[in-house]
Amino acid sequence: MSFIKKLTGTGTSKSNLFSKSGSAVAPATTTATGGADAAHLAKEAVAASSSPLSPNSQAPVAATLNTPAPVAAGISAAPVAASTPAQQQQQQQQQQPQQVQKPATVTAPMSSGVAPMDLDVPNKQWEGSVTSPPAAITRPPAPATATQSSSATATTSQQQQHHHHLPAVSGAKPMGGARPKFSLTDFQLDRTLGTGSFGRVHLVRLRSTGKYYAMKVLKKTEIVKMKQVEHTVNEKNILEMLDFPFLVSMLGTFQDYANLYFVMEYVQGGELFSYLRRCGRFPNHVARFYAAQVVMAFEHLHAKDIIYRDLKPENLLIDAKGNIKITDFGFAKHVPDVTWTLCGTPDYLAPEIIQSRGYGRAVDWWALGVLIYEMLAGHPPFYDEDHFKLYEKILACKPKFPTHFDPAAKDLVKRLLSADLTKRYGNLKGGVNDIKKHKWFAGVDWEKLKNLGIQAPYAPPVKSDGDTSNFDPYPEDHEPYGIVCADPYREKFRDF
Ligand code: AMP
Repeated sequence: MSFIKKLTGTGTSKSNLFSKSGSAVAPATTTATGGADAAHLAKEAVAASSSPLSPNSQAPVAATLNTPAPVAAGISAAPVAASTPAQQQQQQQQQQPQQVQKPATVTAPMSSGVAPMDLDVPNKQWEGSVTSPPAAITRPPAPATATQSSSATATTSQQQQHHHHLPAVSGAKPMGGARPKFSLTDFQLDRTLGTGSFGRVHLVRLRSTGKYYAMKVLKKTEIVKMKQVEHTVNEKNILEMLDFPFLVSMLGTFQDYANLYFVMEYVQGGELFSYLRRCGRFPNHVARFYAAQVVMAFEHLHAKDIIYRDLKPENLLIDAKGNIKITDFGFAKHVPDVTWTLCGTPDYLAPEIIQSRGYGRAVDWWALGVLIYEMLAGHPPFYDEDHFKLYEKILACKPKFPTHFDPAAKDLVKRLLSADLTKRYGNLKGGVNDIKKHKWFAGVDWEKLKNLGIQAPYAPPVKSDGDTSNFDPYPEDHEPYGIVCADPYREKFRDF
């Protein structure tokens, strides 16, 4: 078996292994590609190398101005005159001092500027089974510098590393009727909030209302090259059908010649990953709060036969009030029964995925076990720099629990991290209720939680709607958007 680590995207907060095809792939061959950028590596302490999504690694796309304009759904007829979005963007970049500077060398993974949080103050509504953890706001040891080396080896520091993923959805009906169709000119582009395996997410402002959104930009040529067309179409279809408090909501999608655009609600508090790495580990009640919201989100997704498949702290955003919003549905899939695609993030892969067995929604419950463990221990349960060893540890399934680990949490994690599907919580006759009724969640008022009636343990500092101080800086070195160029893949993305 040969997994090849993929570090993609400038400043990506994650990188994933991914299957080369969208379905039924044995974990045999994947393609090594690129590397993460320095800003992210500041977090990860991974040496940077060129990324397939890095603008610098791509030839400019702008040469073909004579190409007949494709009829773009949602593209305002783009006169190649003074104020194309690309030109506006270039102007903006020239006029404004670079808002987000790449730190020269950063060894501290968590950027400063955000007040340390006091997670040791238990929220009253959650204190029922709080076991006064030690002041867990200690910073993990400085990461060793590491480089991407071989297909099977990820040489990042355990404490600081982000999880690197593998990629996978099906026709879903948009709920709530037709969505408004936008174009790039409807938005004022602001700084980069983060990068994923296949694209970059910007803060944007809808000109007509002044409201802020997060806009994910995916380059069509990259999506095609990385064989992610089906996954990207699925991501759109699934996001369109979702409306749940703990899942990021989408305003709409559109495309231009070169890119696909997803416009989502802007979640101001940043990634749970950042909070977790800053704290080292979370106190029991804090981990329980976030885990409970993830449980409800998965309950909602699974009721629609959607598997999420990429749970990890990087994909959990915190809203202004401190509630979870799951983002990145790139691997989510409508699976009424079984699927085989190899995708996900190594640390979070269930044994049945590694073994190329057909698998179902139970993989999300396994991942929940990994998440709870990581939140409480500060590192994932099977961590190993060598991916072969990591997979061996996952298959052996004998996580070691630190002595401080809450006994009830340990019991639940063990029941979630069961390689035996007939014993894994969430996958039994009682379904999600076995998890919700577990003693670690004793006292949780699930209905109240869903109605956002429970105060979050930590509210991030958010000064205004467009405040981006909870996001790490990223270099704004992407290609300009809105360039007129050839669009050979329009047909593949006709629904955008
Ligand atoms: P993704 O490619 O979807 O994994 O997104 C990459 C990164 O962009 C995430 O890890 C977040 O840091 C950021 N991001 C994604 N979606 C949002 C959002 N709706 N609001 C704020 N930041 C986001």
